[in-house]
Amino acid sequence: MANVLVVAESAEGKLRKTTHSAVTFARQAAQALGGAFSILVIGHNVAGAAEEARALGADKVLVADDASLKDYLAERYAPTVAEVGKGYAVVVGTASAYGKDLLARVAGRLGSGYAADISELLVEGGTLKYKRPMFAGNAFGIMSVSTPVQVVSVRQSAFAAAEPSGGSSDVAPVAVVAPGAAASRIEMVSFDQVKSERPELTEAKVVVAGGRALKERFNEILDPLADTLTAALGASRAACDAGYAPSDLQVGQTGKVVAPPLYFAIGISGAIQHLAGMKNSKVIVAVNKDGDAPIFQVADYGLVADLFQVVPELVKQLKAAKAG
Ligand SMILES: Cc1cc2nc3c(=O)[nH]c(=O)nc-3n(C[C@H](O)[C@H](O)[C@H](O)COP(=O)(O)OP(=O)(O)OC[C@H]3O[C@@H](n4cnc5c(N)ncnc54)[C@H](O)[C@@H]3O)c2cc1C
Repeated sequence: MANVLVVAESAEGKLRKTTHSAVTFARQAAQALGGAFSILVIGHNVAGAAEEARALGADKVLVADDASLKDYLAERYAPTVAEVGKGYAVVVGTASAYGKDLLARVAGRLGSGYAADISELLVEGGTLKYKRPMFAGNAFGIMSVSTPVQVVSVRQSAFAAAEPSGGSSDVAPVAVVAPGAAASRIEMVSFDQVKSERPELTEAKVVVAGGRALKERFNEILDPLADTLTAALGASRAACDAGYAPSDLQVGQTGKVVAPPLYFAIGISGAIQHLAGMKNSKVIVAVNKDGDAPIFQVADYGLVADLFQVVPELVKQLKAAKAG
């Protein structure tokens, strides 16, 4: 029977939301193949994450828990994932930084074809085909994979997070495969996590993103708006490259891909590389002093105005509306 393996992503013993998008794909693919799906939870002290995974409707939850997997390194994780993956028709994860890093190596170890960062699963006569955005989202390619195991990563913004199914999957431990020579040439020196009170950029319901126009006043102008809307902050690459915003806020082709219900583009021109990361947002609000800026072609609401005047005014109005 053709089954699907989801490679879960966890942090600090908890399942990351990225996993739920891969599970949505796995449910679709398993149904198309007439099989079932399993979830592999890998790391150290991941019992909590495995418990969460049990509620997602998998046939079983496989757990690879070992001290050698305490710090995530693709070279240490990939041998175990590939070994477990051998028994499946499809190995899937989400195209987060973790998934992109790990799954390419897993595909290499399995000698498998890799459909990366797909936005849709198409099923034709029981065969899986994958739709993936190309050229910064200006074209779509449809691909199929002909190797016995197909490795897939899904775009998080294109696959809604799977809800718990109400069931409780069986749990089985799996053996950890000793890493090869590559792992001895790399070590984790430190992991400096950015702590923020704000929602995670890729999971936020509202994103307030700013561009180069904000200059050194990026946070002074955008923080109050983001606070009022309980939004995540985002930025254009130009704003990040200039040092006005940290690079983990970058949205776009070479940054994060987001599709929140509400996206504010403040002082962002709307270059195709930026649009590639946000144009699937449900409602887009743009503020730009240039009425011809390309961002207005994708905006649902556009304001041709000086952001330094209108954003503080918008915050004032929102606060007044909340208070009233
Ligand atoms: C290979 C490649 C990958 C890339 N990847 C990305 C990516 O992932 N993400 C990304 O964002 N970019 C990416 N870029 C860069 C992209 O091409 C643009 O250069 C960038 O998005 C521009 O950022 P910006 O809109 O902030 O700046 P600008 O293009 O300089 O636009 C600033 C805008 O602010 C407006 N403005 C100025 N002052 C005010 C004011 N007072 N009030 C209101 N509006 C004002 C201007 O009218 C202008 O439209 C990539 C480029 C390449 C070549």
